[in-house]
Amino acid sequence: LLCYYVSRVLIRRAHDRLMLEQVRREAEQARRLDRMKLDFFANVSHELRTPLTLIADPIEHIVNDENLTKRQRNMLQIVEKNVSILMRLVNEILDFRKIQNKKMRLTLSEFELTGYLKEWVSTFESIATKRKIKVDLIISAPIRLCADIYKVERIFYNLLSNALKYTDEGGNITIKAKSTDETVEICVKDTGRGIAKEDIRHIFDRFYQVRNSNKDGTGIGLAIVKAFTELQGGTAKVESEVGEGSEFTITLPK
Ligand code: ADP
Repeated sequence: LLCYYVSRVLIRRAHDRLMLEQVRREAEQARRLDRMKLDFFANVSHELRTPLTLIADPIEHIVNDENLTKRQRNMLQIVEKNVSILMRLVNEILDFRKIQNKKMRLTLSEFELTGYLKEWVSTFESIATKRKIKVDLIISAPIRLCADIYKVERIFYNLLSNALKYTDEGGNITIKAKSTDETVEICVKDTGRGIAKEDIRHIFDRFYQVRNSNKDGTGIGLAIVKAFTELQGGTAKVESEVGEGSEFTITLPK
């Protein structure tokens, strides 16, 4: 009987070890795949940057030419806008690789946040109007902050463009910013589709996209938000209810 029990324990332990080994192998494989995906995107992005700059520069030059008809100017502005979207995407992917290789540096400066928030929100005005989404910016007092302005802009841009992307016509987006003794909080709240509980824990992961989200995207926006926030010593969190909306809050040390 003793022999029987001992052999059962040994078999169970061997089985557990095998399972553990398999989980470890799968995690390693997932990490390798993630790394390969990033390298691939980064290499392609690197190749795209020069031709994109060569398209952007002449367009910027001729878009203000007085001899253009209104229609020609409108069309060129569409090209200009889409080139800048592509350029942003390319830069974000390259930024990612810098973060991964620990080469991303912070360029800190002291600035007044609310003026920038107003400016950044205004760049989304036309798309919000087109989609009949009301965007409110609520700030009670000026906020001084020492941070990397380029990265704060990228964080905010990603949160607001997601809020617009995942909110239906007629919805609302509320942006609040406030300052405490030590921190600054930026909150972007929408009345959009919301995020399911099982997706929330992966939502800031690189390349993670909610299944059947039916929207164009890459799954890198929120990963950039998290990486840029944490690089500055801050935190990124989300609260969401499916069908009710989502609230993303960024807290940065002052
Ligand atoms: P992308 O939007 O390019 O797919 P993100 O990293 O920005 O990538 O977002 C990851 C996923 O999180 C999205 O696919 C989307 O399903 C979900 N998501 C992000 N922001 C919101 C939001 N405000 N409301 C609902 N879902 C969101």
